[in-house]
Amino acid sequence: MANSPVPKPWIAGIHAYVPGKASGEDGRAVVKLSANENPLGCSALALAARPQAVHPSQYPDGDSNALRHALGVHHGIDPARIIMGAGSGELLYLAASAYAGPGDEVLFSEYAFSLYDIVARRAGAVPVEASAKDYGTDVDALLAAVTDRTRVVLVANPNNPTGTYLPKSEIARLHVGLPADVLLVIDLAYIEYVDPADDDGSMALAASQPNVLATRTFSKAFGLAGERVGWGTGSAEVIEVLNRLRGAFNVSNEAQAMALTALDDLAFVEHSRRHNTEIRARFVSQVDALGNHGLRCVPSEANFVLVLFEGKLSGQAAYEGLAKAGYMTRWFSTPGLNRGVRITIGTAEDMDGVAKVLRELAEAAK
Ligand SMILES: *Cc1c(COP(=O)(O)O)cnc(C)c1O
Repeated sequence: MANSPVPKPWIAGIHAYVPGKASGEDGRAVVKLSANENPLGCSALALAARPQAVHPSQYPDGDSNALRHALGVHHGIDPARIIMGAGSGELLYLAASAYAGPGDEVLFSEYAFSLYDIVARRAGAVPVEASAKDYGTDVDALLAAVTDRTRVVLVANPNNPTGTYLPKSEIARLHVGLPADVLLVIDLAYIEYVDPADDDGSMALAASQPNVLATRTFSKAFGLAGERVGWGTGSAEVIEVLNRLRGAFNVSNEAQAMALTALDDLAFVEHSRRHNTEIRARFVSQVDALGNHGLRCVPSEANFVLVLFEGKLSGQAAYEGLAKAGYMTRWFSTPGLNRGVRITIGTAEDMDGVAKVLRELAEAAK
């Protein structure tokens, strides 16, 4: 007998999620461009709704009825096919644990969101990575990696940390190529940043196909990351299964009220999208101008850019140099990704500052 509790072997294999840093090594404040938060904050209407929403002594509506109905009206979805989560991350855990367990495989792309590995392992399943193509999700590689043990496939579109985006035709080809008993989870955390004309068709698949779950969040373009509210939609059967597993009161009073009000202020989301598109294009051209120093951007449809350092200046040195100058970004030490630094698109001033530091670092590198 062990002399203390022993976690299950699949839990022992989990490395805790590493969030983007908010301060420098010495604790001093920095411009935080490490967690893909909205530099414009959130809707002023949602902020104004907060004081009335706080009822600390009362449980929230466990079914988030008002919010699900509002989302249903806005997206043309039966609210019975909508589940709310404490962030969309909770729903990814639920989906993996409901449909995969020990002996099963959960499949995702190389350079996918780092949470997917944790999600698979927590379910007891084996995480399987299909190789990426040009830092993006490769549908052929994913389909080739499907085995009779594959139960869940996770795809973020746009993908984090690379920013790459699969068009509608590729999402459709992935879905058609999967066995009917495999759940395809399409994580749309950044979809509000994509030009609506480039719809990837995921919401329509989730509405019409029994094996597709689309997840959305209020954390990014809505600017409510701290409130922890996300949602998912799929078949009534899948949503009913996930509802059995979620926390009974998983979305707080405050989060429900703020998200509900934020839905009345979609002008804020549209403003955030336009702001991001404009500042991102300008930042990308500033980085591309440093191509002679080996810098380039992976094409991004999200509110961040993965900058690759393939010359004398390394990804790690760029990350450290930016941190020293007061800009906290995200560097992944993982082999294959360690040439890249993921930089959240902040304000115009932030990004001009980052571009200036990158130029100085690149010119000084030997
Ligand atoms: C930020 C992010 C989420 C959202 O997480 P929440 O739990 O909703 O805050 C989901 N997926 C990806 C790929 C993300 O980057």
